[in-house]
Amino acid sequence: MTESEAINHQVACPVCGAILIEGYVSWHYYCTSCKYERGFLTPEINAPEVHRKLDELKRIVGLKKTRIANAILLVEILRKFVHGEFPRLLDVGSGYGWFLDIAASHFNVTGLEPDEHVAGIAEMQGKSVIRGYFPSALQGHETFDVIVFNDVLEHIPNIPEALSACKERLNSEGFVLLCMPDSSGFLYNLSKRLHILKIRYPFYRLWQFGLPSPHVHYFNINNISELMRRHGFIICAKGHLPTALIEGVYDRIAFAGINNSLFRLLLWAMIVMSVPLLKFFPSDIFYAIFKRQ
Ligand SMILES: [Zn+2]
Repeated sequence: MTESEAINHQVACPVCGAILIEGYVSWHYYCTSCKYERGFLTPEINAPEVHRKLDELKRIVGLKKTRIANAILLVEILRKFVHGEFPRLLDVGSGYGWFLDIAASHFNVTGLEPDEHVAGIAEMQGKSVIRGYFPSALQGHETFDVIVFNDVLEHIPNIPEALSACKERLNSEGFVLLCMPDSSGFLYNLSKRLHILKIRYPFYRLWQFGLPSPHVHYFNINNISELMRRHGFIICAKGHLPTALIEGVYDRIAFAGINNSLFRLLLWAMIVMSVPLLKFFPSDIFYAIFKRQ
C-alpha cells in the first residue's frame, strides 16, 4: 500500500479492522479504536542513492552501544522461557550481527538481512547471515525455536504475512521476541505536541523519515498483543527498555543528518540533561515474548 493508495482508499486497521484516519501529516494514519498508527513511507533499503547519503561509519558508531546493551537484556529474558541445548534462533533483520553475537553463547543463531551492504559486513566477520527478506529467503523447511524481530517489525509493511510466516517457521513450542518503539512512549507523544507547535523534526525523526528503512507502524503493548493473539500467539512476558542511553546519543544525532553543528550540540545537551528525568516517564521502547499456541 503506497501513500497515494492510502489517500484514495479506506485502509483498515490490521489489529481491529476499524478504518484508519489521517493523522499529523499526509503519510500518517491512525486507528481511533486501538491506537495503532501507520506511516505510508517507502523503504529503499538497497537503493544506491540512499546509501550514498549515509556515512556508514557514523551509522555503526551511532547505534552499536545501545543495541548491544539491549541485546544483553533481551537474551537474558529469552533464556527464562526457551530451554534445551542451543535452541535454534533466527534474527530477522540481523544488521551487523550484534544481537547474534550476544545470543550465540546460548543459542544456535542464524541472521537474515535484506541490506546487501550490511549483510556483507556481517559475513566478513564470520557471522551466519542469509541475505534477503523474511520469509522468502529461508530454505524450504527450515524451522526455529525462536524468531526475533529486534527493532524490525515496525519496518515491515505486510505484518499479517510476516506473522503467518512466523507460525509456519516456528517449532510447535516456539517463541517470537518483539522489541519495538512504543506509541505510548513519552518522547513520541512529546514529538506529536512539538509537531502541533510546528517543531516537526522530532516527529519525522521518530518515524525515521528519509532513512533507507523508515518505520511504517507504531504499536503499543496492548494492540501488538491483540494482533499477535489473532495470529495464534499468546504473550508470556513484556516490559520496557530504557529509552535513551547517553552513550552514542551525539553520534545518533550526527547520523540523523543534522548539519548545523550548533543545533546538534544544543540538541545533544538537551537530551543529556533530560535523560535522568526520562525514567519518570513512559519508556519509548517495549519488548514482548509470545508463545505459539
Ligand atoms: Zn485498530
